[in-house]
Order: sequence, then C-alpha cells, then structure tokens
Amino acid sequence: MMPELLWPPSIDSAFLERLAARANVASGGSSIPVIAPFDESEIGRVPEAESRDVVKAGVAASVAQESWAATPLSERVAVLSRFHDLVLERADTAIDLIQLEAGKARVPAFEEVYDTAATTRYYIKTGPALLRRKRRATSLPGLTTAYEYHHPVGVVGNITPWNFPFTLAISDIVPALLAGNAVVVKPDEKTPYSALYGAMLLDEAGLPEGLLQVIPGYGEKIGSDLIDQVDFIAFTGSTEVGRALAQQASNRLIASSMELGGKNAAIVMADANLEVAIPGLARAVYANGGQLCLAMERIYVDSRIRDEFTQRFVEHSRSLSVTAEYDFSSKLSSMIDRSHLDAVHAHVEDAVDRGAALLTGGKPRPDVGPLFYEPTVLTDVDDSMALCRGETFGPVVSIYEYEDVDDAIAMANDSDQGLNFSVWTTDNRRGVDVASRLDAGTVGVNDGYAATWSSYDAPMGGMKASGLGRRHGATGLLKFTEAQTVAVQRLVPAFAPPPGMSYERYQRILGPLLKLLRHTPFYK
Ligand code: NAD
Repeated sequence: MMPELLWPPSIDSAFLERLAARANVASGGSSIPVIAPFDESEIGRVPEAESRDVVKAGVAASVAQESWAATPLSERVAVLSRFHDLVLERADTAIDLIQLEAGKARVPAFEEVYDTAATTRYYIKTGPALLRRKRRATSLPGLTTAYEYHHPVGVVGNITPWNFPFTLAISDIVPALLAGNAVVVKPDEKTPYSALYGAMLLDEAGLPEGLLQVIPGYGEKIGSDLIDQVDFIAFTGSTEVGRALAQQASNRLIASSMELGGKNAAIVMADANLEVAIPGLARAVYANGGQLCLAMERIYVDSRIRDEFTQRFVEHSRSLSVTAEYDFSSKLSSMIDRSHLDAVHAHVEDAVDRGAALLTGGKPRPDVGPLFYEPTVLTDVDDSMALCRGETFGPVVSIYEYEDVDDAIAMANDSDQGLNFSVWTTDNRRGVDVASRLDAGTVGVNDGYAATWSSYDAPMGGMKASGLGRRHGATGLLKFTEAQTVAVQRLVPAFAPPPGMSYERYQRILGPLLKLLRHTPFYK
C-alpha cells in the first residue's frame, strides 16, 4: 500500500474506484494495475477491455451518434461550454490525478488541464461557423448554386499515449463531438484514470449516454479491433505504431490522423539573448522530464557563443529543482516506468561509450523517486550513437555547434522526423525567415513549444515521419467530417451547351469567353 503522504489531497481510493466504474468494459474480466511512478506502488485497477468490449463500445457509440448528429449544434455547444467551465472548476483534482498516475511535475499537469479548457473554448467559439452550410462559387454564377456541408464521419476512435493522458485523450475529441460524432477512446494502459475523469466531466456537462466510450486496454491486443469499429482513427503515440495503424486504416479506406514522435532541434543564433534562451530552452528540453513529443533533444549553437551557451546551460540544468511533490516546486517529472527509465539511461550510456562528452547528469535520481532521471547534457555526439537520430523521450539533450546558419538549418533538417523546432535570436524577422526554412510542422521563435501549441487557431502536427494530418485550427475540426457538395442547376445545363447549340459551336464560343472572364474579379 502506498504511504498516505504520497497521495495528492483530492484523490482517494474510493474516487479511483468510481473512475474505474466509468470504463465501458463488461465486468468479471481481467483488470489492469495502475502504478504511481512517484513510488512504483499500485494505486488501483481498471477493468481491461477485450475484443468483445471493443465491438460493444463501437455499436453503442454508433447508436448514440445518430441522435447526437440530429441534436442542434447550439445544444452541442452548450454541453461543451459546461464542460469547459467544469474543467476549470475541477482543475485541482484533474492536476492531482494526472500527477499521481503519470508521475508528473505539477507544471505539465497544469498545462494539460488548462490546454483542455482552451481547446474547448476555441472550438465552441469557432466551430459553429466552420460547420455551418456554406455557399460556394460556381462556374456558372447565377445558374448554378452550390452548397458545402460538413457531416459527422460517425464514430471516431482515439488511441492516446501516457505522457499527456488528460488533454490528448479529451481535448482532441472535443472537436469530434462538436461535429456530431461519437467517440471511443483507448487510453494508454499506464494512465487510464485521466481519460476516465475527463469522460466523467463530459457526462456531468450533459453529454448523452453512450456517446463517449472509454475502453482501457493494451494497444497490441485491442488497437487493431478498434480500427475495425470506427469511421476515423486519431492516434497519438510512437512513429512505429502509428505507421502500422495508418496502414490498417488505409486498407479499410477510413481517414486517420497520426500525431507521432520527434527528434526536435533548436537553433541558437549568435545574437540570441541568453537570458531568454537558457531558461526557455531548459523548459523546452526538460518539460515533463523530456517526455513531451515537442521537447527539444538537439541544440545547434553558433560557434561564437557556443562555449558561453554550453557553460550557462549546464549550470542552469544543474540548478533545476527535482521533487516528487504535489506542488509547483519541481522542474522535472518522473520517468513513466522502469523500462522507460532503462531505455533513457541506455541511450546515454551508449553515447558515452562511443565517445560523447557527458557535461552533467547521466544517472537516475533514486533519492527523489525510483524512476527519476537527472537533467543530462551531452556534446560530441555523432551518428554512431543511437540518440543522435533516435528519440530519447527523456531529460537528455545534445549540443552541437555550427559556423553558418545555412549549415544549422541543413543539420536540423537532416532527420526523418519534423515535429516542432525552435529558433532563438533577437532579430525576430530573421528568426521567422529561418523558421520557415525548417522541415517541421511547427517552429517557435524564442519559445520551445508553448507558443506554437497554444496558437489554437493554427494547425499543429508533424512533417515527415512525425505524422499525418493536424490537430487545432479549422483542420482539427473538419477532419472529423465528411464534406458534401450539393449543387442546384437552373435554366441551362452545366458544362454542356444550351439546348439547340452544338458542342462545336459551344467550344468556339467558350474559349474566348473564358479567357475574358479570367480577368473579371467575380469569376473564380
Ligand atoms: P506507443 O505508440 O507505444 O503507445 C501509444 C498508444 O498506442 C497507447 O495507447 C498504446 O496502448 C497504443 N498501442 C501500442 N501498441 C499498439 C498497437 N500495436 N496497436 C494499437 N495501439 C497500440 O507510444 P508511447 O511510447 O507510449 O508514447 C510516446 C510516443 O508518443 C513518443 O514517440 C512521442 O513523441 C509520441 N507522442 C506524440 C505526440 C504528438 O502530438 N505528436 C504527443 C505525445 C506523444
């Protein structure tokens, strides 16, 4: 039994049992232990979904979706507006719960709760205009009238990772629900309580029964069954799994979005303000103990400031407080479990064995908690080392130097992945110019990840092997819809001669007419 001291104030076993009961899984089967990373104790168990639960969840979601799609958009907005307020009212409980089951520092737990509210607010404000029927330009203005509709796809599946277990399970499905879909969420088996709590808050906000199914379970066992049940699959997780799921989805000819891994790069230019860049990059490297898909794992520094930057960055890394407390004192989270801690350490050991210089860190911190790892800075990293190109997903960063910014851009872009990069300079105009030459879905200038992520009106996602599709912005909502065009024709047929005219004569008239019309502003 976990020592009483380590339970956060708002959580007890009875609360966790209520959450487990929210799972859409038949009783009597096996269960999944949930382990608190802060001390590796078992805090509770949730029922484990099997194939038959996945089928049941898909059918129940599909039934509930029919009436939800027919519910006026204003009522759907009202439910999600209440949810927005509930998330803010219950923020402390949500943050406590996330810290407990994911071993997080309070800051990244806080970030995901407020992110969920912010994403919801963005879509309840912008969604209705995006989903409304729109009049479209036609090639015969006045004779053809065209309308664009956005219908819900049906049932959306969402498979999510453990590192942001509340927001990635919940805020990604808010636009899907708003668009009139039902959702089946399969949270990561290590962190099911956060998704279940989000579902409970949505229930309390008035979401109709059955519309949101949560099925805790092991991805390798039921992930594939889920894809067979849904009309769209949203996946956030590793590139390896995402690639396999995208193939399965394409075989079924259903659409998918894949939010995958990164090996993110930062470019520090000679004119960077180190008072901003050092703490800013430390936040970008060590956020959630580096277990953040957007975290920086490579820093390219102009050779003129490389020594000063490196020395100050190392000093800053050593000064970071690392605690396992339910307060805002810690700058680092625990690693999620022992196998991940071992994988992070193996990356560092492999690099050091092959000649990398370890400037600080490089070992676990059992004095803080069994799964904590020190902030770690390496130099002299080369291609022979696994962490040079592979994602570490821990508090580990490699510093490289460059002479010319074109070289820095080439080195940053020399990666299979392209999720979220950053540029640090006092010349914002130049920073934006460099940013636009980087092969990454998002790039922050003088910020590591928060500015790009919180620009909810703009798309967020990865290039190359970092993903397919985007969350946020119009695309983050409309991807959960089927576009339909309805066109009404009057008087003469479209794309054909009027009655009585031959195609020969029609073609002779059409060519010069279209050339003329190209110069008129109203004709598209
Ligand atoms: P993972 O791919 O192992 O697991 C993610 C989810 O997929 C879990 O729910 C898991 O149960 C499920 N899963 C695992 N194997 C499966 C299978 N064969 N079929 C179906 N589902 C399966 O990822 P992880 O290692 O736990 O998470 C970390 C990774 O996620 C990192 O690479 C990180 O960069 C990435 N990530 C990306 C984003 C983003 O927005 N781009 C956000 C967070 C995390």
